[in-house]
Order: sequence, then C-alpha cells, then structure tokens
Amino acid sequence: MPTKLGQNFLTSDDISRKIADSAGLSTKDNVLEIGPGKGMLTKYLAEYAGKILALEIDRALASGLQKENYRNTKIIEGDILKINLPKLIEENDFQNYKIVANLPYYITSKIIRLLLETKYPPRKMILMVQKEVGERIVALDSKESILSISVKFYAEPEILFYVAKENFDPAPEVDSVVIRIKRKKEIPKIDVKKFFSIVKAGFSSKRKMLVNNLSASFSVPKAELLKQMKKAGLDQKIRAEKLKIEDWLKLQNFLNAKK
Ligand code: SAM
Repeated sequence: MPTKLGQNFLTSDDISRKIADSAGLSTKDNVLEIGPGKGMLTKYLAEYAGKILALEIDRALASGLQKENYRNTKIIEGDILKINLPKLIEENDFQNYKIVANLPYYITSKIIRLLLETKYPPRKMILMVQKEVGERIVALDSKESILSISVKFYAEPEILFYVAKENFDPAPEVDSVVIRIKRKKEIPKIDVKKFFSIVKAGFSSKRKMLVNNLSASFSVPKAELLKQMKKAGLDQKIRAEKLKIEDWLKLQNFLNAKK
C-alpha cells in the first residue's frame, strides 16, 4: 500500500550523508529541500550548505522540525505544487539555488516538471526517486519517453546510485535511485509549448512509427515528412522512443511551420 503523502522516511545516516555530499555543497549554496519529513537529510544539508528552505506539507512534521533549530534553515509548511514558488524564491533571495530532496513518489513527475519550468529554476537537483522513474528519466534502456525528453530539453539527467527499499521506514514496495539533474547553460530559444505538442504527437500511438503519428496529427503528407526525417538523419521506420532530444529539435522547425 502506498503511504499517505509518500511518507517513506530514510533510516540510513550513510545514505543521507551520501545524498547531501552528491550536491557538492559549500556555505555559499542555497538549498531548497522538498519534503524534509523528520529531517534525516535536512541535518546534513544544514551542516554543509549556506541557507536552507525546507518545504513540508505535513503540519505535524513541519512543527517537529521547527523545534530542531537547524543552522540556517527555515522550515515552511506548504505544498510544493500549490505554493507560489517564484514569490518564495524572491522573498528569500534564493534565485541561485540547488534542490536536494527525497521526493514523495506519488507526485515525482509533477514536481520535476514544475522545477524545470518555473521562473527561477534550480541550477542542480539531487533527487531520490523511484528506481523505475529515475531509469525512465535517463532512458537507461535507450527508450525515450515524454518525461525523459521533457527533462533533457532543459537539463542533463544522470543516475548517481541505487538505494534499496530496506533503507526506509516504512519500506516502500520499490527500490529507489538518486539522480542528478543539471540545468543546461543554454535552453533552446523556441516555442516550448509548440515543441512539446510535437513530442506528444510523436508519442500519441506508441506502437506506430513516428511518421504515421506526426503526419496524422499535423496533416502533413507522409512523403514530405519522410524527406525531413531523412534530412535529420532519421530512419523512416523509427518510433518516437528512439528519438533523442537533438532529433526532436531538428524536426520541430519544419513541423512548427506546418501548424
Ligand atoms: N526527507 C525525508 C526523508 O528522506 O526521510 C522524507 C522523505 S518522504 C519520501 C517525502 C516527504 O514529502 C514527506 O515528509 C511528505 O510529508 C512530504 N510531502 C508529500 N507531499 C508533499 C508536497 N506536495 N509538498 C511538500 N512536501 C510534501
């Protein structure tokens, strides 16, 4: 049974320290922690980082953490999906920051998307996520997805290390993985909404070839599309899951003109 609010608390000091270490923190760093829970990670972040904002949805946990009086740490009770994040960042002078979090698994993708698209995105995220989700984000099996392409549009994701489910209380049903998502210095200057409408169209019917999905969604003759795909160096039978972020960027110019 999934726990309420994804509350699976880390029990291992070694792993908590390793996660904090992975962020490469110095006293110059600002860290936003999402879901500090009982503070297992927070105590190491407080040891290494400059300033910390720790945002916890659960009132009882948030007030328990207030009493810990961690160094340079501000505990905020709130929901990451509802809070006005740009306002929080501005009020705390946090424009340059990193995220370190053991994320609640029931909303992992939503949180990642939010953090990639927000007005002041973090320059680096160290995230513990469900193993399968982490592997899907980096496309470990060489099968891309809308999620992996969304992350790779803005950032470079990488798997750092695996964490077995026995290191949590209560133990979740699945193992976990710690990933790093490093913001790209240059984000393509294109219409993001249009770009993702193309990616979604490409994945609309997973078993179909890309050319069929795109020509149906954009009412473009297949022959025309195949010509563009050839120019982009793509096999005519390719499926969406085989396209890298660079391939989508090559195709988007042509398809945008067709919209
Ligand atoms: N950081 C702690 C640890 O590693 O032991 C707890 C991690 S636990 C997997 C996820 C935490 O996120 C819980 O404390 C939960 O209450 C909190 N949480 C769940 N949904 C949240 C939300 N929407 N906004 C902020 N925190 C949330």
